[in-house]
Amino acid sequence: MSFANIGLSAELLRAVADQGYTTPTPVQQKAIPAILQGRDILAGAQTGTGKTAGFTLPLLQRLNERAQGKGHRPVRALVLTPTRELAAQVEESVRVYGKHLPLRSAAIFGGVKINPQIERLRQGVDILVATPGRLLDHVGQATLELLKVEILVLDEADRMLDMGFIHDIRRILALLPAGRQNLLFSATYNSEIRLLAAKLLNNPEQIEVAARNTAAERVAQQVYLVDRERKRELLSHLVISGSWQQVLVFTRTKHGANRLAQQLERDGIGAAAIHGNKSQAARTRALADFKQGAVRVLVATDIAARGLDIDQLPHVVNFELPNVPEDYVHRIGRTGRAGREGEAVSLVCIDEHALLRDIERVLQREIAKGSVAGFEPDPAIAAEPIQHRRNAMGGARRAGSGRLGARGSMTESAPAGGSGRRIGAAPGRRPAAVQNGNQKAPPETIPVHGRPAQQQRVATQRKATPSRRRERPSLFGNRG
Ligand code: AMP
Repeated sequence: MSFANIGLSAELLRAVADQGYTTPTPVQQKAIPAILQGRDILAGAQTGTGKTAGFTLPLLQRLNERAQGKGHRPVRALVLTPTRELAAQVEESVRVYGKHLPLRSAAIFGGVKINPQIERLRQGVDILVATPGRLLDHVGQATLELLKVEILVLDEADRMLDMGFIHDIRRILALLPAGRQNLLFSATYNSEIRLLAAKLLNNPEQIEVAARNTAAERVAQQVYLVDRERKRELLSHLVISGSWQQVLVFTRTKHGANRLAQQLERDGIGAAAIHGNKSQAARTRALADFKQGAVRVLVATDIAARGLDIDQLPHVVNFELPNVPEDYVHRIGRTGRAGREGEAVSLVCIDEHALLRDIERVLQREIAKGSVAGFEPDPAIAAEPIQHRRNAMGGARRAGSGRLGARGSMTESAPAGGSGRRIGAAPGRRPAAVQNGNQKAPPETIPVHGRPAQQQRVATQRKATPSRRRERPSLFGNRG
């Protein structure tokens, strides 16, 4: 199937061609015609499958077909997303795909001033992309009215539920008119999503694209064993010698992200850090600089990196391994997107061998290991415990309670990429690595290698099961 015969108008086809897309992705092939027909959608599709264009293109077409008269423009399509970044990216897509149409869009999310958003809404917006908390703030201030919404999209619904947005979503649903079209996109499936879908959707077209998220299969992975003190040097060497132009680097902590970005700058490599302590403006700027090639390296913490859509990202580097194996899968999923090749490199020191084993157990495969000439690890260096701080930024203990802090804001303490089940008080489990360099709480030191073997096995089993579920998600269970 080509875009030409999928039912889109000339203006939208032109926008698609401007983007260089030739063939609709599988989710687009299924979603676009169904949405154009006015059907509700339940789609099991992850980031990277082209889902955003899958709902944005037909949504734009439907709104444009039913032109509005003159006067105030009410919100006619509402897209809810879990994070600020995703809201900004979806709205950017709306603008890109709708650039030849006379429709107006806006993104509203927390962490930034509300007044410019109020002004934007006052001027009239056809398509509103929002995080739930800030949306409700606007409703509370009577600066937004949702009675004319014709199409509702819940994007990354599973993450919204993971982040504790279910009550906000229910409140928002109660504000919308009946008889609208509902589109629900979710990467994973659980009873909560099923319940939400049953309440929300009317005879939905069920779409499930082939499991794409075998990041472990798509992405070339390599471990470089290196001493902990030489990681930064090795990273600079890899970037420079490999002429890497766009590298996303993961650190475990916000403080570590800042420090590494500064050190890379001193090595003459343009770098910026992105994490939850940065203002929204700083994060947006860092991401824009990175996308435009103004900085070569973006250093991010796991949570800040969630939902980032960066085209053709060729290199992901784990400067430090994540404490939770699922985060490794999320991290490497940032490369090799939309069918492109990618490479994920992990710099692993002696302290991290147990983490590496946990990751390999979850992946159910070994990752190629080696060292770079001149950076071979010194066998005389002994392992040291990895430090954790419990409850930093409201960390592990509060994470299960959903979003924290400002409404609609992305919280550093939300369970990374997951349902919160990782952050329980299961015996023998390491707390999630939620650290904050500004925290005054004393660090809690947990010897990674010091766990009894029995506990280690329990911890690994608990972690491995949900991860495999997330790797091969199905919204519809075993449909044969
Ligand atoms: P998404 O899953 O919406 O995050 O999209 C993932 C990436 O795929 C984005 O960078 C899009 O620009 C890109 N994309 C979307 N549709 C297509 C297409 N039909 N052909 C090629 N790339 C696409």
